Amino acid sequence: MKKKNNEKYRKNLTPQQYHVLIEKGTEKPFTGKLLYNKKSGIYVCAACGNNLFSSDKKFDSGTGWPSFWDAVNKDSVKKRIDTSLGMKRIEVTCRRCEGHLGHVFNDGPLPTKQRYCINSASLNFKEKRKKR
Ligand code: FE
Repeated sequence: MKKKNNEKYRKNLTPQQYHVLIEKGTEKPFTGKLLYNKKSGIYVCAACGNNLFSSDKKFDSGTGWPSFWDAVNKDSVKKRIDTSLGMKRIEVTCRRCEGHLGHVFNDGPLPTKQRYCINSASLNFKEKRKKR
């Protein structure tokens, strides 16, 4: 995360959110609060509130982390090569604050075949209001 954003957002984060978003940690699989969330709405960055993922692109990957086959739009996330832990992976960060979200893999479902593997701790969920 950019240093100025770190200073701005860190005080509002729980220790677990801080660990994931700023220290690039990973929550334990099958523990995240949004893993089984099936409500309609938008997943936003837990640090800066940027719109990141949509419920209509969420799928059950069986991996234990919330999974999406695409980001909500082109401006939502940023990708970069991550060679930590002796692996070559693509890290996904929030495009606005650069908080760590997770990784993206090429074994997802159609139409993109992408699997965004995202920590619940990096997300907040905004449920879509039902029309009356
Ligand atoms: Fe953010």
